[in-house]
Amino acid sequence: AAKADGDKLRRYSADLDDEAGEEARLGAAVRIALDTGQFRLVYQPIVSLPDGRIVSVEALIRWDHPDRGFVSPAEFIPVAEQNGLIVELGAWILRTACAQAVVWRNTLGDAAPERVSVNVSARQLAEPGFTELVSSVLAWTGLGAQNLILEVTETAVFGGGQAVQAVKDLHELGVRIALDDFGTGHSSLGLLQTVPVDVLKVDKSFVDNITLAGREAVIATALIQVSHGLGLMAVAEGVETAEQAAELHRLGYRLAQGYHFGRPVAEPDFLGEPTAVAVV
Ligand code: C2E
Ligand code: CA
Ligand code: CA
Ligand code: CA
Repeated sequence: AAKADGDKLRRYSADLDDEAGEEARLGAAVRIALDTGQFRLVYQPIVSLPDGRIVSVEALIRWDHPDRGFVSPAEFIPVAEQNGLIVELGAWILRTACAQAVVWRNTLGDAAPERVSVNVSARQLAEPGFTELVSSVLAWTGLGAQNLILEVTETAVFGGGQAVQAVKDLHELGVRIALDDFGTGHSSLGLLQTVPVDVLKVDKSFVDNITLAGREAVIATALIQVSHGLGLMAVAEGVETAEQAAELHRLGYRLAQGYHFGRPVAEPDFLGEPTAVAVV
């Protein structure tokens, strides 16, 4: 039995080595990807449920690796957080998304989405100088603070400290703060007392079964009441069907996002035909 256990242990640590090795390789690949321009951003519409108007877009990163092919951000963002490259990558994301928003504003005028929403990772938010980075990107691109939404997760601000101070400073600047994946963290409601939040992004897990009148529907209803009671905006995430959209609207949701309205793409529909852009 002792020998079998020893074998098991060896196999286990070999697996760990493989995992650590793969993580290191992926981390190194992120470095190269940053240097050689392999990343790009796509944008997913956030629509007004009453009239279908696109009010904002969320920027989401995409990586087409020459050999690995498509690598999901759910896979490489945590690795970039671990090795610290998220700070540089995150700055690139912020600059690119803000510059794009200004291009839309300049070419489309009122047809451009009012705001662009950018995901910020926990590590980025806790990094000293993050607020200064945001100010300088706004100044550099000419985007108004009120036209930028930063999406932070509950876990990123859960610990308080520098991250919460950054959120307060950014809010003071006029940047809107969205709590991403709302309802899935440990302290969702408690955070609303200490962190200045403008938008709750109600997680897809509450939207998935919304039409079944089960627990998820009860929670989604409670969350829209909290959000309206506190004067916040709520965005329902991951809306995939017309039935879900109708039910959310019935419950009082005004904003939604999901494949039903549009997938994340490089050039969302509001850009229209090239000729329509040229007329402006
Ligand atoms: P997230 O911020 O919660 O983003 C929403 C995710 O749900 C995106 O996946 C989006 O493509 C996907 N999604 C949107 N609508 C639907 C739908 O109707 N059905 C389904 N099944 N999925 C939908 P994506 O782009 O793969 O990103 C995954 C996560 O990676 C994001 O979750 C976010 O946590 C992270 N991420 C993506 N881009 C960035 C970025 O630029 N910076 C940072 N820090 N994190 C990012
Ligand atoms: Ca997000
Ligand atoms: Ca989310
Ligand atoms: Ca998520």
